[in-house]
Amino acid sequence: LQPFIEAEKLRMGGDGTASSKGKILMATVKGDVHDIGKNIVGVVLGCNNYDIIDLGVMVSADKILKIAREEQVDIIGLSGLITPSLDEMVHVAKEMERQGFKIPLLIGGATTSKTHTAVKIAPHYAQPVIHVLDASKSVPTASTLLGDDKWAFANQIAADYERIRIQREGKKSSKQYLSIEKARANKVKINWTGYTPPQPQFTGTKVFDKYDLAELAAYIDWTPFFSSWQLFGKYPAIFEDKTVGAEATKLYDDAQAMLKTLIAENWLAARAVIGFWEAKSNDTDDVILENGTQLHHLRQQREKAPGQPNYCLSDYIAPIDPTKQDFIGGFAVTAGIGIEEHVARFEKNHDDYSAIMLKALADRLAEALAERMHERVRKEFWGYAKEEDLSNTDLINETYKGIRPAPGYPACPDHTEKATLFDLLAAEKNTGIFLTESFAMYPAASVSGWYFSHPEAKYFPVSSIDNDQLVDYAARKGMDLETASRWLSPLLED
Ligand code: SAH
Repeated sequence: LQPFIEAEKLRMGGDGTASSKGKILMATVKGDVHDIGKNIVGVVLGCNNYDIIDLGVMVSADKILKIAREEQVDIIGLSGLITPSLDEMVHVAKEMERQGFKIPLLIGGATTSKTHTAVKIAPHYAQPVIHVLDASKSVPTASTLLGDDKWAFANQIAADYERIRIQREGKKSSKQYLSIEKARANKVKINWTGYTPPQPQFTGTKVFDKYDLAELAAYIDWTPFFSSWQLFGKYPAIFEDKTVGAEATKLYDDAQAMLKTLIAENWLAARAVIGFWEAKSNDTDDVILENGTQLHHLRQQREKAPGQPNYCLSDYIAPIDPTKQDFIGGFAVTAGIGIEEHVARFEKNHDDYSAIMLKALADRLAEALAERMHERVRKEFWGYAKEEDLSNTDLINETYKGIRPAPGYPACPDHTEKATLFDLLAAEKNTGIFLTESFAMYPAASVSGWYFSHPEAKYFPVSSIDNDQLVDYAARKGMDLETASRWLSPLLED
């Protein structure tokens, strides 16, 4: 549509801008690399005749605000996926206030929420700050904010957000925490005496260069593919869905066609590194490796119902005991090597659809590689489930033994531990994946995590923690309290 819209603008207004409904600057904040959702929002707004200035990913507050001023934009839209981006958005809002901006700020992306926007961002900026749930809401939100009803709408949102803040204050006092010592005493009880940890084929790392993409296609989990396009429903039932079935079918056919071409023409290189290390857990929630490296974990600290343990991942590694040798594994995989030139080629041709499609497929292939590698770990490299024979649906449903928790996700929510994982794996050298200052992985189509082999190991959310654990954790990591508070801010109450 873009060339037609441009031509129409020229015809109507002469200078090519007269009929635009407004200028919107969009950016994925500093430290974050994800942009599929933002790009979809940009396309939807562009097709509705807004001028979009898209600054891409990893954009600093300074750059956003400098260009917003130079270009005299009407709205700024910030996007982010990982939890550290939430803090960066707070920073941008504070800077907008400090620098005297008078334009609305829109917030979107996977970990953002109405509550976070209301509680943490909006109080720092006197102009409208609005959480936009998805691309379809972006057009009515922008048009109201740039129309006569701006303040009626903004005041209504502000009142709603005030209600959310008050509700949250009320809930806070009702949360009950155990002391970290008591929480540790209520760890999950594992019978280590009757258990021999399985031994992997090797310790140290193993690198897989140019992993065969054709092998991975069968391991793709398609359900998240549809949600990345904001079509919601489970694969394959989504094809029968009354509302989105027809579009889902077309999208899937296009995806299959591109997948075939990208495999045949080697558009993307997939790489992986895995590793295993001798490991023991101590009684302060750390895992200690053979070379002295310490992995730091957080423990659930809210008071549990009787019989419910306070979970912590380190409980799944055998405690210090000379008669048992346990291990932990780690992995980093990517399917995004070489993606930039193809994305650029599509964008140059105004083919946003294919650019977004390629990113969505690269994400799927990275997840598929994580799934396939984990299967090979269980069946070959760690070898504790040689007889396992699971369908792709079984794999997606995680019916296998062991887990692969990812730093930054709920069981191990501290993103900074990814630095230790990447050091152990020499992941940057071995795969080309690098970590941003917020510990996002670039290329975006990358996945990393730990391997736990214990059959009882499972995922859980650490969720919010109390101040004593924060102080203890900061000391264990050798981090000052302020820095630790910043990284753990999603787990802390203020
Ligand atoms: N089939 C999905 C796989 C990703 S979601 C896809 O293709 O997108 C499941 C993964 O998320 C898990 O393998 C694990 O790495 C991570 N995960 C889920 N819950 C987690 C938790 N509570 N803590 C840590 N990692 C978690």
